[in-house]
Amino acid sequence: MPEPTFPAPPEDGVPCQANPDLWWPQTSEDRTAAWAKAACASCPILDGCLEWAVHNESHGIWGGTTAVERTRIRKARQLPAPPLFPRRMSGAA
Ligand code: SF4
Repeated sequence: MPEPTFPAPPEDGVPCQANPDLWWPQTSEDRTAAWAKAACASCPILDGCLEWAVHNESHGIWGGTTAVERTRIRKARQLPAPPLFPRRMSGAA
């Protein structure tokens, strides 16, 4: 099965574009992480972003999940760890 590609953001953008630093919290449990996860919930490409991140990102908030939550998803699906250096997003702005 081919790995997912990052979905193209809509022309009017996605929540993380306005202030991307908030999507890189110090820990998966801090308040910034909770805020970013809540903002992701309104994102029109949430599902595609999450699927891409499960395969490609081991840090930060992506698709409404923390790094710890994506690790749990990978384990449940028996997927390998993401690459050390994430692949370039195709379709990203
Ligand atoms: S779902 Fe992905 S693209 Fe959308 S705001 Fe969250 S991290 Fe950004």
